[in-house]
Amino acid sequence: MIIPFNKPYMSGRELDYISEAHSNGMLAGDGPFTKRCQAWLEARMKCNKALLTHSCTAALEMAALLLDIQPGDEIIMPSYTFVSTANAFVLRGGVPVFIDIHPDTLNLDERLIEAAVTPRTKAIVPVHYAGVGCEMDTIMSIARRLGLKVVEDAAQGVMSSYKGQALGSIGDLGAYSFHETKNVISGEGGALLINDANLILRAEIIREKGTDRSSFFRGEVNKYTWQEVGSSFLPGELIAAFLYAQLEDADRITTERIARWKRYHESLEQLEAYGILKRPVIPDQCEHNAHMYYVLLEPQIDREKLLNAFKQNEIWSVFHYVPLHSSPAGKRYGRTHGDLKVTNRQSERLIRLPLWIGLSDEQQDKVVKVLKNAST
Ligand SMILES: *Cc1c(COP(=O)(O)O)cnc(C)c1O
Repeated sequence: MIIPFNKPYMSGRELDYISEAHSNGMLAGDGPFTKRCQAWLEARMKCNKALLTHSCTAALEMAALLLDIQPGDEIIMPSYTFVSTANAFVLRGGVPVFIDIHPDTLNLDERLIEAAVTPRTKAIVPVHYAGVGCEMDTIMSIARRLGLKVVEDAAQGVMSSYKGQALGSIGDLGAYSFHETKNVISGEGGALLINDANLILRAEIIREKGTDRSSFFRGEVNKYTWQEVGSSFLPGELIAAFLYAQLEDADRITTERIARWKRYHESLEQLEAYGILKRPVIPDQCEHNAHMYYVLLEPQIDREKLLNAFKQNEIWSVFHYVPLHSSPAGKRYGRTHGDLKVTNRQSERLIRLPLWIGLSDEQQDKVVKVLKNAST
């Protein structure tokens, strides 16, 4: 029996809410369900403002516009991330400056930030890999001292926290993803958390095609006009209706994923002791959301062989990322600071195991068994 890598979870209320949106007769963005989702996020994540977007990519693009990134401005970020982290800034002419990561959490190494800063540096973009928080206290204090902005790429970090603060709510801005492959989903979807209250009004304008339409609907202005460069970043109500059903269930989603995650973690303890692999590390100050379970194979283990063994057993396991600094566009639009040794090494050793709600004990045992047999 095939074990898929991911299976989207449904709370069961999605279609009820979509049907409610259908009878409301309001299908464009910023209707009742969008407001409910945003209010939920604001209360839960304790951010000043949450705005739904049609993806995390869109939220990052809004962040680049909000920070007024100009051609040649530099943005410090890890190379070990998804393309949107960099692409959003490159669209504005920004230059991603890639720095190395920690070998255990695979999050950007905050000790390398300061040396990468130049007079052109505008922002730092920590990516909370696997929903495990970056060292935010250090990152925020460097940013405050040097007058830089912080945009958290918290695409994977919905429902995770760092020292009790929700990921995405700590930097000036935070970007969430509700893509089907994440924990809380709406197919495609995302949100921008605006923690710096000074940015709220402009964020609304940028999201509404550069107009003050949001102020108009609140009765604050008597007509709406083109105010600045923006785009259409808001999702329709059907997406928001789907998402609301998921947000209502977000605690249960997290609990169930954590249970699966812990089961892998216990089952693989022995392989770590044998020197076959390293398991993920969760720092004490972080509470995570079990977004993914990955292992880092020791150098003597052949990843290709292991992936083939999974394939032969109908287990869909994947690896990522091709580091951005070694990709064609990364070379063209970005630059590196330092040698990125850890990024290069770990990206070749990582594999992700199937993790989704409904994955059975038997299926997990099979994954562990195939991993064990192929590596010992
Ligand atoms: C998934 C992901 C994104 C992009 O999210 P979308 O909602 O698909 O645009 C960006 N950054 C990271 C780190 C991601 O994992």
